[in-house]
Amino acid sequence: MEMTEIFDKLKELQEILKSKYEIEKEIVDAPKQLTSQEELLARLQTEFIEKNEKYEEKRTRILALKTELAETESKRENSEKAMDNITTHREYEILEKEIKDATDAEQRLRKDLQKEEKDFADLDENLKHDEQFIEQQKNELQTRKEQMEQEINSYRQQLDDLKNQEDKITPGIDPETIFKFERIIKSKHLGIVSVKGNVCDGCHMILPAQFANDVHAGEKIMFCPYCSRILVYEPNENGESEFFRMEDTGSLIDDDDESSFDSSDDGFGGNDYDDEDNGRHTRDDYNDFE
Ligand SMILES: [Zn+2]
Repeated sequence: MEMTEIFDKLKELQEILKSKYEIEKEIVDAPKQLTSQEELLARLQTEFIEKNEKYEEKRTRILALKTELAETESKRENSEKAMDNITTHREYEILEKEIKDATDAEQRLRKDLQKEEKDFADLDENLKHDEQFIEQQKNELQTRKEQMEQEINSYRQQLDDLKNQEDKITPGIDPETIFKFERIIKSKHLGIVSVKGNVCDGCHMILPAQFANDVHAGEKIMFCPYCSRILVYEPNENGESEFFRMEDTGSLIDDDDESSFDSSDDGFGGNDYDDEDNGRHTRDDYNDFE
Protein backbone atom coordinates (compact mmCIF):
# COMPACT_ATOMS: atom_id res chain seq x y z
CA MET A 1 0.00 0.00 0.00
CA GLU A 2 1.20 3.51 -0.83
CA MET A 3 2.16 5.63 2.14
CA THR A 4 -0.27 8.37 1.09
CA GLU A 5 -3.02 5.78 1.15
CA ILE A 6 -1.98 4.70 4.65
CA PHE A 7 -1.96 8.32 5.84
CA ASP A 8 -5.44 8.83 4.36
CA LYS A 9 -6.64 5.68 6.07
CA LEU A 10 -5.16 6.81 9.37
CA LYS A 11 -6.95 10.17 9.07
CA GLU A 12 -10.20 8.35 8.41
CA LEU A 13 -9.51 5.96 11.29
CA GLN A 14 -8.79 8.93 13.53
CA GLU A 15 -12.32 10.28 13.03
CA ILE A 16 -13.82 6.86 13.78
CA LEU A 17 -11.72 6.39 16.89
CA LYS A 18 -12.52 9.87 18.18
CA SER A 19 -16.25 9.14 17.88
CA LYS A 20 -15.73 5.73 19.46
CA TYR A 21 -13.94 7.10 22.53
CA GLU A 22 -16.49 9.90 22.95
CA ILE A 23 -19.33 7.36 22.89
CA GLU A 24 -17.51 5.03 25.29
CA LYS A 25 -17.11 7.96 27.67
CA GLU A 26 -20.84 8.76 27.37
CA ILE A 27 -21.67 5.18 28.30
CA VAL A 28 -19.50 5.40 31.41
CA ASP A 29 -20.77 8.87 32.39
CA ALA A 30 -24.48 8.35 31.74
CA PRO A 31 -25.31 6.53 35.02
CA LYS A 32 -23.56 9.31 36.98
CA GLN A 33 -26.35 11.69 35.96
CA LEU A 34 -28.74 9.66 38.10
CA THR A 35 -26.56 9.67 41.21
CA SER A 36 -27.92 12.87 42.73
CA GLN A 37 -31.50 11.73 42.21
CA GLU A 38 -30.72 8.34 43.73
CA GLU A 39 -29.12 10.07 46.72
CA LEU A 40 -32.15 12.31 47.16
CA LEU A 41 -34.45 9.31 47.11
CA ALA A 42 -32.33 7.44 49.65
CA ARG A 43 -32.36 10.50 51.95
CA LEU A 44 -36.13 10.88 51.63
CA GLN A 45 -36.62 7.24 52.50
CA THR A 46 -34.40 7.51 55.58
CA GLU A 47 -36.27 10.62 56.72
CA PHE A 48 -39.55 8.86 56.12
CA ILE A 49 -38.54 5.97 58.38
CA GLU A 50 -37.46 8.41 61.11
CA LYS A 51 -40.71 10.37 60.87
CA ASN A 52 -42.67 7.17 60.95
CA GLU A 53 -40.94 6.20 64.21
CA LYS A 54 -41.91 9.57 65.70
CA TYR A 55 -45.44 8.98 64.48
CA GLU A 56 -45.61 5.67 66.34
CA GLU A 57 -44.16 7.31 69.48
CA LYS A 58 -46.89 9.97 69.32
CA ARG A 59 -49.55 7.32 68.95
CA THR A 60 -48.28 5.52 72.07
CA ARG A 61 -48.06 8.79 73.99
CA ILE A 62 -51.65 9.72 73.06
CA LEU A 63 -52.90 6.32 74.21
CA ALA A 64 -51.07 6.75 77.53
CA LEU A 65 -52.53 10.23 78.02
CA LYS A 66 -56.04 8.97 77.26
CA THR A 67 -55.66 6.15 79.80
CA GLU A 68 -54.34 8.58 82.42
CA LEU A 69 -57.21 10.98 81.72
CA ALA A 70 -59.80 8.22 82.07
CA GLU A 71 -58.26 7.16 85.39
CA THR A 72 -58.22 10.74 86.68
CA GLU A 73 -61.85 11.27 85.63
CA SER A 74 -62.92 8.09 87.35
CA LYS A 75 -61.00 9.09 90.49
CA ARG A 76 -62.75 12.47 90.53
CA GLU A 77 -66.17 10.85 89.99
CA ASN A 78 -65.53 8.49 92.91
CA SER A 79 -64.61 11.41 95.12
CA GLU A 80 -67.74 13.26 94.02
CA LYS A 81 -69.89 10.20 94.86
CA ALA A 82 -68.18 9.88 98.25
CA MET A 83 -69.29 13.45 99.02
CA ASP A 84 -72.86 12.09 99.58
CA ASN A 85 -71.72 9.94 102.49
CA ILE A 86 -69.39 12.17 104.46
CA THR A 87 -70.03 12.90 108.12
CA THR A 88 -67.20 15.23 109.19
CA HIS A 89 -65.78 18.49 107.99
CA ARG A 90 -62.36 16.83 107.85
CA GLU A 91 -63.66 14.20 105.39
CA TYR A 92 -65.21 17.00 103.32
CA GLU A 93 -61.89 18.84 103.17
CA ILE A 94 -60.02 15.70 102.05
CA LEU A 95 -62.53 14.90 99.32
CA GLU A 96 -62.70 18.48 98.19
CA LYS A 97 -58.91 18.52 97.79
CA GLU A 98 -59.01 15.21 95.90
CA ILE A 99 -61.67 16.59 93.53
CA LYS A 100 -59.73 19.79 92.96
CA ASP A 101 -56.44 17.94 92.30
CA ALA A 102 -58.19 15.55 89.91
CA THR A 103 -59.86 18.42 88.06
CA ASP A 104 -56.52 20.23 87.69
CA ALA A 105 -54.88 17.04 86.47
CA GLU A 106 -57.72 16.48 83.97
CA GLN A 107 -57.32 19.98 82.61
CA ARG A 108 -53.57 19.53 82.24
CA LEU A 109 -54.02 16.12 80.58
CA ARG A 110 -56.65 17.44 78.16
CA LYS A 111 -54.33 20.27 77.20
CA ASP A 112 -51.43 17.85 76.65
CA LEU A 113 -53.66 15.50 74.72
CA GLN A 114 -54.90 18.28 72.48
CA LYS A 115 -51.34 19.31 71.69
CA GLU A 116 -50.21 15.73 71.02
CA GLU A 117 -53.22 15.06 68.81
CA LYS A 118 -52.53 18.16 66.77
CA ASP A 119 -48.87 17.12 66.33
CA PHE A 120 -50.03 13.65 65.43
CA ALA A 121 -52.39 14.98 62.75
CA ASP A 122 -49.65 17.23 61.32
CA LEU A 123 -47.21 14.36 61.25
CA ASP A 124 -49.80 12.16 59.59
CA GLU A 125 -50.35 14.79 56.91
CA ASN A 126 -46.61 15.19 56.52
CA LEU A 127 -46.05 11.47 56.11
CA LYS A 128 -48.75 11.19 53.48
CA HIS A 129 -47.17 14.05 51.57
CA ASP A 130 -43.70 12.47 51.86
CA GLU A 131 -45.01 9.14 50.75
CA GLN A 132 -46.46 10.71 47.62
CA PHE A 133 -43.28 12.61 46.94
CA ILE A 134 -41.15 9.48 47.36
CA GLU A 135 -43.42 7.59 45.00
CA GLN A 136 -43.15 10.39 42.47
CA GLN A 137 -39.35 10.45 42.76
CA LYS A 138 -39.20 6.68 42.37
CA ASN A 139 -41.29 6.81 39.20
CA GLU A 140 -39.25 9.66 37.80
CA LEU A 141 -36.02 7.82 38.51
CA GLN A 142 -37.39 4.67 36.92
CA THR A 143 -38.37 6.63 33.80
CA ARG A 144 -34.95 8.23 33.60
CA LYS A 145 -33.30 4.83 34.05
CA GLU A 146 -35.32 3.40 31.19
CA GLN A 147 -34.47 6.39 29.00
CA MET A 148 -30.83 5.95 29.87
CA GLU A 149 -30.92 2.27 28.99
CA GLN A 150 -32.37 3.17 25.61
CA GLU A 151 -29.67 5.78 25.14
CA ILE A 152 -26.97 3.29 26.05
CA ASN A 153 -28.42 0.74 23.65
CA SER A 154 -28.30 3.32 20.91
CA TYR A 155 -24.68 4.12 21.86
CA ARG A 156 -23.82 0.43 21.64
CA GLN A 157 -25.40 0.31 18.21
CA GLN A 158 -23.27 3.26 17.15
CA LEU A 159 -20.19 1.53 18.54
CA ASP A 160 -21.00 -1.58 16.48
CA ASP A 161 -21.32 0.59 13.37
CA LEU A 162 -18.01 2.28 14.12
CA LYS A 163 -16.37 -1.10 14.69
CA ASN A 164 -17.55 -2.21 11.24
CA GLN A 165 -16.11 0.93 9.68
CA GLU A 166 -12.89 0.42 11.62
CA ASP A 167 -12.59 -3.17 10.42
CA LYS A 168 -12.88 -1.99 6.82
CA ILE A 169 -10.06 0.53 7.24
CA THR A 170 -7.49 -1.30 9.32
CA PRO A 171 -6.46 -4.14 6.98
CA GLY A 172 -3.10 -3.32 5.44
CA ILE A 173 -1.97 -1.15 8.34
CA ASP A 174 0.60 -2.55 10.77
CA PRO A 175 -1.32 -3.63 13.95
CA GLU A 176 1.37 -2.10 16.17
CA THR A 177 0.94 1.25 14.43
CA ILE A 178 -2.78 0.99 15.06
CA PHE A 179 -2.19 0.10 18.69
CA LYS A 180 0.04 3.18 19.22
CA PHE A 181 -2.33 5.33 17.20
CA GLU A 182 -5.30 4.32 19.37
CA ARG A 183 -3.37 5.16 22.52
CA ILE A 184 -2.44 8.60 21.25
CA ILE A 185 -5.99 9.43 20.18
CA LYS A 186 -7.34 8.23 23.51
CA SER A 187 -5.10 10.64 25.38
CA LYS A 188 -4.55 13.48 22.91
CA HIS A 189 -7.57 13.37 20.56
CA LEU A 190 -5.37 13.81 17.50
CA GLY A 191 -3.10 10.95 16.46
CA ILE A 192 -1.95 12.15 13.08
CA VAL A 193 -0.78 15.71 12.50
CA SER A 194 1.08 17.54 9.83
CA VAL A 195 4.62 18.77 9.94
CA LYS A 196 4.78 22.38 8.83
CA GLY A 197 8.32 23.20 7.86
CA ASN A 198 10.13 21.27 10.56
CA VAL A 199 7.56 21.88 13.29
CA CYS A 200 5.14 19.25 14.63
CA ASP A 201 1.64 20.71 14.36
CA GLY A 202 0.55 18.63 17.33
CA CYS A 203 3.02 19.84 19.98
CA HIS A 204 4.65 22.73 18.10
CA MET A 205 8.12 21.46 18.84
CA ILE A 206 10.91 21.88 16.32
CA LEU A 207 11.91 18.44 15.12
CA PRO A 208 15.47 17.20 14.63
CA ALA A 209 16.59 18.15 11.12
CA GLN A 210 17.27 14.64 9.84
CA PHE A 211 14.04 13.45 11.42
CA ALA A 212 12.04 16.22 9.68
CA ASN A 213 13.72 15.35 6.41
CA ASP A 214 12.71 11.70 6.89
CA VAL A 215 9.12 12.78 7.49
CA HIS A 216 9.26 14.82 4.31
CA ALA A 217 10.51 11.80 2.42
CA GLY A 218 7.30 10.05 3.54
CA GLU A 219 8.68 6.53 3.18
CA LYS A 220 7.60 5.19 6.54
CA ILE A 221 5.42 6.01 9.51
CA MET A 222 7.21 8.40 11.85
CA PHE A 223 6.09 9.28 15.36
CA CYS A 224 6.86 12.73 16.79
CA PRO A 225 9.62 12.23 19.40
CA TYR A 226 7.96 14.83 21.64
CA CYS A 227 4.23 14.04 21.51
CA SER A 228 4.23 10.57 19.86
CA ARG A 229 1.78 11.60 17.18
CA ILE A 230 2.13 10.24 13.65
CA LEU A 231 3.57 12.92 11.43
CA VAL A 232 2.63 13.55 7.86
CA TYR A 233 4.38 16.06 5.66
CA GLU A 234 2.45 19.03 4.34
CA PRO A 235 4.32 21.04 1.70
CA ASN A 236 4.67 24.78 2.37
CA GLU A 237 2.79 27.36 0.29
CA ASN A 238 5.32 27.17 -2.52
CA GLY A 239 5.05 23.41 -2.57
CA GLU A 240 8.71 23.15 -1.70
CA SER A 241 10.35 20.83 0.72
CA GLU A 242 12.57 22.48 3.29
CA PHE A 243 15.74 21.25 4.91
CA PHE A 244 16.74 22.22 8.38
CA ARG A 245 19.61 23.22 10.59
CA MET A 246 20.44 21.00 13.55
CA GLU A 247 20.63 23.82 16.11
CA ASP A 248 16.87 24.50 16.14
CA THR A 249 16.08 20.99 17.21
CA GLY A 250 13.90 20.30 20.22
CA SER A 251 12.77 23.84 20.99
CA LEU A 252 9.40 25.44 20.67
CA ILE A 253 8.86 27.57 17.62
CA ASP A 254 9.28 31.27 18.31
CA ASP A 255 5.83 32.38 17.35
CA ASP A 256 4.05 35.22 19.14
CA ASP A 257 0.67 34.13 17.80
CA GLU A 258 0.76 30.90 19.76
CA SER A 259 -0.48 32.44 22.98
CA SER A 260 -2.15 29.20 24.03
CA PHE A 261 1.14 27.64 25.03
CA ASP A 262 1.64 26.62 28.58
CA SER A 263 3.56 29.43 30.17
CA SER A 264 5.00 27.11 32.80
CA ASP A 265 7.65 25.99 30.33
CA ASP A 266 10.39 24.37 32.34
CA GLY A 267 12.72 24.32 29.39
CA PHE A 268 12.76 20.55 29.24
CA GLY A 269 12.68 19.91 25.53
CA GLY A 270 11.11 16.49 25.88
CA ASN A 271 7.93 17.76 27.42
CA ASP A 272 4.73 17.81 25.54
CA TYR A 273 3.44 21.33 25.13
CA ASP A 274 0.10 20.43 23.73
CA ASP A 275 -2.51 21.97 25.98
CA GLU A 276 -4.98 19.18 25.20
CA ASP A 277 -2.97 16.95 27.46
CA ASN A 278 -3.48 18.92 30.66
CA GLY A 279 -0.04 17.82 31.76
CA ARG A 280 -1.01 14.18 32.05
CA HIS A 281 1.72 13.04 29.73
CA THR A 282 5.27 12.50 30.61
CA ARG A 283 8.27 11.59 28.63
CA ASP A 284 7.58 7.95 29.49
CA ASP A 285 4.46 8.03 27.38
CA TYR A 286 6.33 8.26 24.17
CA ASN A 287 9.38 6.40 25.32
CA ASP A 288 7.13 3.35 25.04
CA PHE A 289 6.94 3.93 21.35
CA GLU A 290 10.60 4.28 20.67
ZN1 LIG B 1 4.71 16.48 18.32
